[in-house]
Amino acid sequence: MSPHHYPHLVLRWKTLARRAGLRLLPFAEADGVPLFYIETPALAERDGIYLSAGIHGDEPAGTEGLLAWAEKNAGRLRTLPLLIFPCLNPWGLMHNTRADSAGLDLNRNFHRRHPVVTAVRQIVGKRRFAASVNLHEDYDAEGLYLYEVTRRSGCGEKLIAAASRALPHDPRKRIEGRGARNGLIRRHVTPKTFAKIGVPEAIWLYFEHTDHAFTTETPSEFALERRIAAQVAVLDAIVARTLN
Ligand SMILES: [Zn+2]
Repeated sequence: MSPHHYPHLVLRWKTLARRAGLRLLPFAEADGVPLFYIETPALAERDGIYLSAGIHGDEPAGTEGLLAWAEKNAGRLRTLPLLIFPCLNPWGLMHNTRADSAGLDLNRNFHRRHPVVTAVRQIVGKRRFAASVNLHEDYDAEGLYLYEVTRRSGCGEKLIAAASRALPHDPRKRIEGRGARNGLIRRHVTPKTFAKIGVPEAIWLYFEHTDHAFTTETPSEFALERRIAAQVAVLDAIVARTLN
């Protein structure tokens, strides 16, 4: 089955949720397609982890990586404080395209009153997360790379190292116009940085809900299995470092 088959993705999440004693809940609809989330019983107002994938529909190792990680951890998922959005752009996933049906890049619109953004905001409420992770992919990438936006001491190098068996890091010194070191882009951001381009999900989280925002980027041209394995390895490392 194709990773772009959204009903199949939802079915696998439902199966996993049942096995893990969790509920996959609908929270919005886009283009007639329902969107779902999972809130674990361990999640409180503070110190949980926000996990999100599939805001760009042409990045299937994000949605598959998040599911693979959850399946791998099914036995203890209930005990972890998590808010999970398995796929924020189902139409994009089904059509293998970055934007939604209106041609809008949701990941530049977290400052606006878009229906999906508004619904996500309502679920998040006033929570503060210990960390957030947004799973992405990049066609131009030459290996795994990671954005780390933090008000604390960084740990991005260790996360990239944790995934190195699955995927080497992107060796480029400049990625997407920004300085990178061994696959790590550590950004210092202010609201002014996004005045023109619009606010991405990770940056909204950093401004309002967390001190530690990670964005993973796997290389779309590499084999899907390796990209998924790298996403899983980074998630495992973030959860271990954040919750232990
Ligand atoms: Zn993306």
